[in-house]
Parts: sequence; structure tokens; C-alpha cells
Amino acid sequence: MTQIIDGKKISAAFREKIAEAVSLLKTEYSFKAGLAVILVGDDPASDVYVRNKGIASKKAGMSSLEYRLSDDTTEQELIALIEKLNHDDTVDGILVQSPVPEHINYQSIVNVINPDKDVDGFHPKNAGNLLIGSDSLVACTPLGCSILLKYILGEDLSGKDAIVIGRSTIVGKPMAMLLLQQNCTVTIAHSRTQNLAEKCATADIVIAAVGRPEMVKGDWIKQGATVIDVGINRIGTTESGKAKLVGDVAFDEASENAGAITPVPGGVGPMTIACLMYNTLKAACNRRKIEIPDIFSDFI
Ligand code: NAD
Repeated sequence: MTQIIDGKKISAAFREKIAEAVSLLKTEYSFKAGLAVILVGDDPASDVYVRNKGIASKKAGMSSLEYRLSDDTTEQELIALIEKLNHDDTVDGILVQSPVPEHINYQSIVNVINPDKDVDGFHPKNAGNLLIGSDSLVACTPLGCSILLKYILGEDLSGKDAIVIGRSTIVGKPMAMLLLQQNCTVTIAHSRTQNLAEKCATADIVIAAVGRPEMVKGDWIKQGATVIDVGINRIGTTESGKAKLVGDVAFDEASENAGAITPVPGGVGPMTIACLMYNTLKAACNRRKIEIPDIFSDFI
């Protein structure tokens, strides 16, 4: 029987543990972890993401600051706000929602965020620490995938063959590093990869992070493999007028071979936001040199 990995349920349990930890820290150390989210422009999808991040922070018992700037905000103005937040002691995490308007260079902005508050894990210091195996704030989506894998496969992924399809800085590359840290043999595939279907068909773990609707077909999946579908693709609308979402994996076909698979929606997505809460909690503890309460041992 194929296991459908219920990201909603797993992330709810994870968020509950985070909220307990936030509350414990409030009682023991009298501080409230805080997340600041900056949105530049009025992209409707980003607006929803930012709102959801604020709701999630409050549900976790954290303080939430939202900065909504007009799309003619200059890079200098944005940098000035980030520098102010870098020095604000009540702010533990800073995030600039992407995409930003074209006249702003996103990576230049990320580089200004204090790496200790970089809860997206995109600052070169955090990305570099992940590469060399030092403790770091890890990008939320790959961290969420990694937690799902541990939940399904247990702690020991040693020797498993994993393929990560996609080499972006925010998903593919950090995902590959996390799998490597867990002693998987990792293939990173991308738009120029040859014979992708054959490569995929030998993998015990498939992570699809491409942005192409249902590209990964059922016969690309080895019998019993674990499939994590990061893709979010909007294809038309449902009868109720909502955007219809599909992943990068042809779910029905792939489910016939997979041992476990994430659905879209309801798989990786909810874990991403839970990991943002986790990173904010971690940043809050690190900044105060407090050991982060153990969240994983009775959750996974
Ligand atoms: P990206 O566009 O930055 O990267 C896509 C990657 O796919 C590239 O590295 C490219 O080389 C590779 N690629 C493109 N065509 C390919 C092909 N034919 N064969 C193999 N590889 C190919 O995208 P991203 O930011 O990494 O996001 C990937 C997907 O994940 C998108 O659908 C995005 O919406 C989704 N996403 C979901 C979450 C979440 O929380 N669930 C978070 C981030 C991104």
C-alpha cells in the first residue's frame, strides 16, 4: 500500500511542538520570539504567503511584524529597513518575500540581512555553513522535505540513492546538501540532464523541485521509492473558481510504484511554513545563547 504523506497533519504536530517551545521560553527566559516579514509590491500570491506567515507566527505564540512597501521602493530604502530590523532586539527573524520588483536585486538584499536573523537560510553565510556541514539556518522548504523523509524513513538514510530534480539555490542545492549530510548518494538533475527518466528510476528517494506540471511520470519511479514533490503549479481553475494546483510529479501514476508520496497540495507546502517558525525559534535561541528545546524526539 502506498503511503500518502500527510504534510498537513505532520506540520500541525510540528507546529504544536514549536508553540510549546515558544511558550516555555517565554516562561523561563521572558522573551517572545519575533518574525518580521517584508513585502515589496502587490503580487497577489506573495500577499497570501505573507499573510499566512503572519497568521502562523501568531499561532505559534510569536510576535509578527509585517512591512508592506510600495513597488517603487528603492533598494536603498529596503536596505535601510533591513538594517533597522537587524538592530532591533525584539526581531529574531527577517524575511523578504520573493519575488521583489525587477529594479531590486534580491540576493543583494538577502546579503544585508544579519545571518543570525536570516530565517529563510538564503544568506551566503548560512548556505556556506550548510555546505561545510556546520550548524546553520537551513532553507525552509528543503528542511521541511528532510523532516518528512525522517518521519517516513526514520533517522538513517545512509547509503540510499537519492535524486534531486532541480538545482535552485532555494530548494535543489540545499536539499542535495541535506541528503549528502545524511549519507545518501545524491544525484542533482537539472534542465540539461540527459536520460532523466532512467536516472530517476534507480533512486530510492526522489525530490522533484522543477516547476513543471506532472513532469515526473509513474514509470520514472522505482517500486517502493519515497517521492517528495516540491512543485506547485497552477493549471487553470477548479469548479469553485480556485486555482487548480498540481505538483511536478504525475501523482496518480507515481503512486502506483511509490512506497510513499507527498500530495500537492497538502504535502511539502505546509512543512515550509512550519520550518519558518522553527527557524525563527532557533534564531531566537541562538541569539540569546539558549539551547533550543528538543522538538524532534517525540514528534518524529
Ligand atoms: P527554479 O525555477 O528556481 O528552479 C527549477 C529547477 O528545475 C532549475 O534548477 C532547472 O534546472 C530545473 N529544470 C527545469 N526544467 C527541467 C527539466 N526539464 N528537467 C530537469 N530539471 C529541470 O524553481 P524553484 O524555486 O526551485 O521551485 C521549483 C518548484 O518548487 C516550483 O514549482 C515552485 O513553485 C515550488 N516551490 C515550492 C515550495 C513549497 O513550499 N512547496 C517552495 C519553493 C518552491
